[in-house]
Amino acid sequence: MSNSPLGGNNVPQVRNISTPLPGPQSEKLAKRRAQVVSAGVSSLMPVFASHGGGGVLVDVDGNSFIDLASGIAVTSVGNSAPKVVEKIKTAVEAFTHTCFMITPYESYVEVCEHLARLTPGDHAKKSALFNSGAEALENAVKIARYYTKKDAIVVVEHGYHGRTNLTMAMTAKNMPYKKGFGPFAGEIYRVPTSYPFHDGLSGEAAATRAISRIEKEVGADQIAAIVIEPIQGEGGFIVPAPGFYKQLAEFAKANSIVFIADEVQTGFGRTGKMFASEHEGVVPDLITMAKGIGGGLPVAAVTGRAEIMDSVHPGGLGGTYGGNPIALAGALGAFETMEDENLVERARQIEKIMIPRLENLQKQYPLIGDVRGRGAMIAIEIVDPATGEPAAAKTTAISKFAHQEGVLVLTAGTYSNVLRFLPPLVIGDELLNEALDVVEKAVAANA
Ligand SMILES: *Cc1c(COP(=O)(O)O)cnc(C)c1O
Repeated sequence: MSNSPLGGNNVPQVRNISTPLPGPQSEKLAKRRAQVVSAGVSSLMPVFASHGGGGVLVDVDGNSFIDLASGIAVTSVGNSAPKVVEKIKTAVEAFTHTCFMITPYESYVEVCEHLARLTPGDHAKKSALFNSGAEALENAVKIARYYTKKDAIVVVEHGYHGRTNLTMAMTAKNMPYKKGFGPFAGEIYRVPTSYPFHDGLSGEAAATRAISRIEKEVGADQIAAIVIEPIQGEGGFIVPAPGFYKQLAEFAKANSIVFIADEVQTGFGRTGKMFASEHEGVVPDLITMAKGIGGGLPVAAVTGRAEIMDSVHPGGLGGTYGGNPIALAGALGAFETMEDENLVERARQIEKIMIPRLENLQKQYPLIGDVRGRGAMIAIEIVDPATGEPAAAKTTAISKFAHQEGVLVLTAGTYSNVLRFLPPLVIGDELLNEALDVVEKAVAANA
């Protein structure tokens, strides 16, 4: 047997389904899984992964899928990207863990240097590193409350911020995230957002509505932070009307409220800018990051204004594994890949391929109510053509059709009627177009 790895650049960039799905090896694993894995943890796909790279994921029966999911916007640089693998190998042979709170190491400082450079704004910035998006959000809220000595946190409808107790309170959607898991943390206030396809409001009208609710129901002087995604991810890839996001940021500034951009899904090149806040001309006070920054490893960060990040007492922030050296090696490999391969620009090219094709499809099939998104974060919203009502069952049927044809797509949305596309930024044009051919077929089959 050869020593060359299966994944990364060695994966043939093809779509090829050669067994019924799931295949026999996946079925065997599913039986073992059913015995020992909690039923509360479910999987979208019926197949088990074997290896992946570029725009492709291969299952244990050798079926090769085009990946339009990236493990939920994580493997932006591709699975097992060569620089990620190389840096992890070096790091893992040196030491696996010391705990940064006991014995610090250079990679933590280096990652924070990159984050200070890459995030919007030219003010002094500092960072703290964690393991997951939810943990970053928890800490951003802790920091904002400490700095402002206020309690209230404002979030918006359709928002998603995680599954820990505090972040469940901040997340809008009940099923599957919250049902039965309360009581939830207090002092979280949810106000209307901007959802142009559903509310038809201008950015200014939507912002005025949200700010009026904030002033009347919470009180501007009670608020520690406004926490908002620049494009709502799990909520359905909702791009706010122009000006909405900026007006909220300006309101925060005028009222000494910390403006926290949750860029866990939108960050790190996904939307065709390094951070989606840049599309809106907003410099957030704090940014939460995770998903795409680790090259597939669990890395999360809060980066923001030095005076806010430094306001907390020494020892007030941390955790055993936060900024684990192996995970940070992955992040450093991902940063290098991003810049060397110009992947932010690549996200813009992906948008230029996807949007026109999906808009053409919308002209043929009125069940596509809306085509939206930025960069490589693109979605279509599926509705009943007669009533305009969300069509969740159709959305599931379209996604299942695509899976059977070898294209990995995800759904999202408060009404579960959004088909979303998050290809790795390294996917080739040919493969991307082939995946879109399958999406077209899936839509046609369910029109
Ligand atoms: C995924 C996500 C989170 C939670 O991240 P985890 O790593 O799953 O805890 C928070 N905010 C947004 C916008 C997300 O997309």
